[in-house]
Amino acid sequence: MDEAHFEMAQRLQEAQLQQSLASRVQYQGESAEFCATCDVEIPQARRLAVPGCQLCVDCQGLQEVRR
Ligand SMILES: [Zn+2]
Repeated sequence: MDEAHFEMAQRLQEAQLQQSLASRVQYQGESAEFCATCDVEIPQARRLAVPGCQLCVDCQGLQEVRR
């Protein structure tokens, strides 16, 4: 890998990091009333406990297992 390519890869990595940070900030925003995946209503207790949640408990659980 020559220097120019290395620099480009680094810049790309940085941009991705910034993007993931930005989306994490958005995640702290308003909680969704309905699950983004299965459209089930998210209980208010969960919306308050997990600020910015977009998924019901089931879908969130599935996502965390996949990770
Ligand atoms: Zn769901």
